[in-house]
This record gives sequence, C-alpha cells and structure tokens, in this order.
Amino acid sequence: MQTDRLVQVQRAFFEKGSHLSVTARKENLQKLRDMLLENEKELCSAVQKDLHKPAMEVVSAEILMVIEEIDFHLKKVYGWTKSKKVRANLLSMPSKNEVKRVPYGVTLIIGAWNYPIGLLLTPLVGAISGGNCAVLKPSELAPATSALLRKLISKTFDPNYITVVEGGVNVNQELLDQPFDKIFFTGSTRVGKIVMEKAAQKLTPVTLELGGKSPAVVHKDADIKTAARRIAWGKFMNAGQTCIAPDFVLVHYEAKLELIDQLKKAVKKYYGKNPEKSDDYGRIINQQNFERITNLMTDTTVLHGGEFNAAERFIAPTIVGDVDWGHPIMKEEIFGPVLPIIGYGDQKTPGVQLRQMPTPLALYIFSEDDEFVERVIASVPHGGACVNDVVMHIANPNLPFGGAGSSGMGQYHGEYSFECFTRPQAVMRRNVWPDPSFRYPPYGKKLFLLRKLLLR
Ligand code: NAD
Repeated sequence: MQTDRLVQVQRAFFEKGSHLSVTARKENLQKLRDMLLENEKELCSAVQKDLHKPAMEVVSAEILMVIEEIDFHLKKVYGWTKSKKVRANLLSMPSKNEVKRVPYGVTLIIGAWNYPIGLLLTPLVGAISGGNCAVLKPSELAPATSALLRKLISKTFDPNYITVVEGGVNVNQELLDQPFDKIFFTGSTRVGKIVMEKAAQKLTPVTLELGGKSPAVVHKDADIKTAARRIAWGKFMNAGQTCIAPDFVLVHYEAKLELIDQLKKAVKKYYGKNPEKSDDYGRIINQQNFERITNLMTDTTVLHGGEFNAAERFIAPTIVGDVDWGHPIMKEEIFGPVLPIIGYGDQKTPGVQLRQMPTPLALYIFSEDDEFVERVIASVPHGGACVNDVVMHIANPNLPFGGAGSSGMGQYHGEYSFECFTRPQAVMRRNVWPDPSFRYPPYGKKLFLLRKLLLR
C-alpha cells in the first residue's frame, strides 16, 4: 500500500474506535504475547541470521523483555486509562475537573537493527495500551528479522490497525512526510535530527531514543572482579552493538591494572581463546560499520584482542589502553567491541571530563562509596544510571528508559510507555449556576479586588 494511503486507512480505523476499550487493548496485547511465544524459534533464527546473535540473548534481551513489558501493561492498563480527578482552584470554583489520557491516533515507530525485535515491539506495547494505531518500520539492516516481523504482524493484526512497512532510507523518508500523530524513533543522533526536522514541519510530537558514549566509571574502592565481569558482559554482548553498552571505562589509577587483568580474564572465560569460533559472540552488522570500527582502532595500544576478519565481519573483543581524549575513538559512539580504558587520579575527578562530553544515554559507576556515587550522578548529565552494574536498568519496567540532550528525548517502558503514547487532556465541568458578574465587564474596581483575593 502507498505510504500516504496507510495513514488514511489507519485514521479511519482509529476513528471507528473498536480498539479503544480496555478489553480490546488487553486482547491485542495478548495477541502480541502469543505471537512472540509461538514463533520464538523462528524469531531466534532470523536474528541469528542477521547478527549471529545467540538464542540466549535474543530470548532474554528481546523476546522476554517485550513479554515482561506486555505483562506489566496487562496488569496496569486499566488503572492508567482511568481519568484522574483533580481539585478546582479559587478561580475555577465551583467545578469538577479531570485529566484523561487520550491516544495520539496513528503512530509511526521506527526501529534500529541491533535489537531488531525489542526496539520495534517494546514501543508497540505502549502504542497498543495507549489506544493507538501503529505503522512499524523495522531497520533494513536486519533484513531476515524485518521480513519475519512483517509476516507475523500481518497474521496477527488487521493492517488497518497495526502494520509493518519494510524498506530503506527512502521508505523512511516517505513515511516521515506523512501526517502521523506521533513518531517514536530509535536510532542514531544524526538521523534523530532528520526525524525531528521532518516532524517539526507538521508539529508532530516525537520521542527520540538515540545513542551516545556511555561511560563506566570504576573507582578505587570498587569490587574490581565483579566490575570487570559485568562491564565485559555489557560491552561485548552483541559484539558491542548495544545502545547502552559501556562505551569506554574511566578507572582510578590504583585499580587500573587489576581491572585490565580481570577484563581479559572475563573475555577469555566468555568467548574462549578464539572468539571467532564462539557461538556466543556476534558479528558486525555490515561492512561499513566494520570499517568504521576497525578505523577507530588505528593508533591505539591494544591490550587484548585486536584481531579482525573482514570476510566474516568479525572483530575480536578488544581492550585498548592509554587513549587520549582527543583520539577519534573518544569522539564518536563506538558501537562495536572495542573498549578504551582511561585512568583518572585523585586530583582530576571523572565528572570534570565527562561533563564536557555530549550527554550519554547511560552512566555506570562502580564504587562502594555512596558519596562518590552521588557526586558523579549529580554532576554528570545522563539518560539513566546504574550503580555497580551495566545495562540492567533497562530491564525494570518501573524505571523510565530514555536519553537526554544528544542521546534523545522522551522516555518509555512501563507506565512511561503509556504516557509516551498518550497525552493528558483536561476536562472541566461547570454548572450554569452560579454565574457571578465578577469576571464580566465593566471591570471597574474588580482588578483591585482580584489582586487582593489572589495575592494574599
Ligand atoms: P540509524 O539512525 O542509522 O537508523 C535508524 C533508522 O533510521 C533505520 O530504520 C533507518 O532506515 C533510518 N534512517 C537511516 N538514515 C535515514 C535518513 N537519512 N532519513 C530517514 N531515515 C533514515 O541507526 P542504526 O544504525 O539503525 O542504530 C544505531 C544507533 O541507534 C546507535 O547510535 C545506537 O546507540 C542507537 N540506538 C539507540 C537505542 C535507544 O534505545 N536509545 C537503541 C538502539 C540503538
């Protein structure tokens, strides 16, 4: 179907309103849940084909994450949809006041390729429970998953309600020209700016889930072994292609050598002596990214790994040391399996340097010193923080997930997803009586009285 027709047919469906009752929303959430569970194997093979991602990571970080989100919404959506009564103030008395959360209408959800199921379907959960229609645009860079999601979604939902549109940048641009009521975009900061520019032409609200360089700060008092195990897991999972992977490590000089040693041990334990042979280690999504990442390794001191194989788009889990802040690897999001390590001392605290960088999506701090932790959290702007771990804050639907500044705007997950796909609408109800003449002209001394009344 032509992209311009898509919005028309979905708007017509939306206006009929058959999907709006809480019962209908829950039925549709349940359908999505069943679709995922019934097709788990096929979904795993598709992502495996696109990214060489192990089933454990597809199921735990994508399928189960979406199911967890659905279950949370199934439990809570009734309460969220109830309008909230609020008090009248002096000026609006007497009146009854309420806030309803109403759906935007026809929404566009654009996903990224690195978690091609989760990044498309987690926002969809919010769109459904918020009472919207949705056009889903998976990333063309994960073609097997994109094709499968199109097939499964078309079997599960009426396309006038929820549909998948496949295609590349051109299709995306065509979609962005359509009069959607809300755009939810996951991807790079560069394309996020294009999306926002397009949306601005129609004043369409946007949520932008973007990227950035998420630092992991390891203080001298941290449990170094655990820090290394967790950082290596979060960094090298999906070959470093995770939006909230620790991008680089800032470690206190006193803990630096031990951390490097423990990181090396963790990598060997996870992926063996030859990670290229490991079933649990991913590949770089395409040649362009492969070249970009290997170029970033130029003029760095490789402490571990460093091997690559262009034919396979394989880059070994790599640790690089003695990195200068001015090196290109510290200037852009790495989004690959290369982990720079930078030391800091007692004089120059990590906050000083981190505050000068664009706002990261995540901030990780390993320390037992609460005062130090609070100081870093308070002084470094970030989307979300995790203390003594990495990545895990994304797994709790009670927490908002999203960036700030160049890592994005707007939050989702749990109730934040419901809010992301609805807007608050005010309703004030008044009786025709009383109708005092105070507010009507002629005003005479009424302003004097009004001041007395309000500015007591
Ligand atoms: P990307 O921005 O290149 O692509 C995202 C989507 O935008 C794709 O569907 C693509 O078709 C489309 N697109 C690309 N160029 C476009 C253009 N000129 N005009 C319109 N649309 C265009 O991002 P990516 O490579 O798919 O993903 C990697 C980035 O996404 C990283 O920066 C990563 O940090 C970020 N990311 C963020 C999150 C998050 O939750 N915040 C999650 C995953 C990835």
